Amino acid sequence: MRTVTVLGSTGSIGCSTVDLLEQARDQFRVRALVGGKNAAKLAEQARSLKAELAVLADEGAFEELKTLLAGSGTKVACGRQAVIDAAALPADWTMAAITGAAGLEPTLAAVKNGKSIALANKEALVCAGDVMLRAVKEAGATLLPVDSEHNAVFQAMADRQIDQVEKIILTASGGPFRTSTLEEMRVVTRAQALKHPTWSMGAKISIDSASMFNKGLEVIEAARIFNLPEDKIDVLVHPQSVVHGMVQYTDGSLIAQMGSADMRIPIAHTLTWPKRMATTSPRLDLAAFGKLEFYAPDEVRFPALRLAREALRKGGAASAILSAANEIAVDAFLHEQIGFLDISRIVEEVMVALGAPSADTLDAVLHWDAEARRAAQRLIPAHAA
Ligand code: NDP
Repeated sequence: MRTVTVLGSTGSIGCSTVDLLEQARDQFRVRALVGGKNAAKLAEQARSLKAELAVLADEGAFEELKTLLAGSGTKVACGRQAVIDAAALPADWTMAAITGAAGLEPTLAAVKNGKSIALANKEALVCAGDVMLRAVKEAGATLLPVDSEHNAVFQAMADRQIDQVEKIILTASGGPFRTSTLEEMRVVTRAQALKHPTWSMGAKISIDSASMFNKGLEVIEAARIFNLPEDKIDVLVHPQSVVHGMVQYTDGSLIAQMGSADMRIPIAHTLTWPKRMATTSPRLDLAAFGKLEFYAPDEVRFPALRLAREALRKGGAASAILSAANEIAVDAFLHEQIGFLDISRIVEEVMVALGAPSADTLDAVLHWDAEARRAAQRLIPAHAA
């Protein structure tokens, strides 16, 4: 039996992971399930999977979680340090799916075990790519990409001829505003931005998809995972979300991975990698789609891609600054403090103000992450509707 830990268990990726673990109970023993605040969901999952430990980041939730899990045999802990300690427990496979920079330290703690890390938390790799990759190398850990596009590229590179890769292509659904004008995008509501046309996801990544910051973060993530320069990573808008990623080889072959828009497929790929597990995910019916479309992205309506490429070229803490400023701006948009187009304006203003200072250590990354958050926060009133 393999031991597994799920960080961000109560979220969208976490629930899909738990669903797969429930489908293959005899293959896995659950070491720890970790959430943020949702005691009821975490307790339900811990009971279902007979988890050894259930942890919430929210210290105030301890009594509730303890009561919910009384008599279950699952140990309970709460607080930031408890999250990191749970991540550090030895497990053969860890899902890293805490959203945002909050996932960075727990993910690093899990990496140090030197086992398999299924990485969904793209912000960790974006803001601390060098630190994270160094830790992976030192610990001898295996990083398995969960993001559907990166997982697709990983699958399309299965023959490991990485030196013969000309470029990789990440697809993007284009989000709910793919065909909207700038004027329309200026006045979109929170509810419209949260309504993704093809994927069902958490709030932050749904807004990132609508602004295409998600794709920008993914370009940075791909550069780190596959060790490729920015100009070898293309983005194609593909509204059907059938093809998730492609690899163009030097001989002209283009290898694509396809699948239903169901995150359980890439998660399952990492869970039993290098073998495959049977899942109940819907099978792709290509005849039902009839045709697949591909378009070049529009960097005028969606400046996020340009900003992410700039951050990659500048290096240092530029990507951490972009990601942190975006987290603050998305939060302000979700709280209806700023308009949709202000998200990229705020990120760009913070990037210009802070530049690309060097960030070789975790402390330096966390410092610039905090500076970018403060700078973004200061800009909110000026953009407030
Ligand atoms: P959700 O918002 O649905 O879930 C986030 C999870 O993180 C929840 O379990 C939440 O707990 C937990 N959490 C939040 N803050 C903390 C904290 N400080 N300490 C511990 N746990 C915390 O997000 P998603 O599942 O959509 O996304 C998770 C990550 O995966 C993101 O980085 C996203 O970019 C990435 N990703 C997601 C995809 C998707 O399809 N959803 C696709 C590809 C990547 P609680 O709810 O209990 O507060």
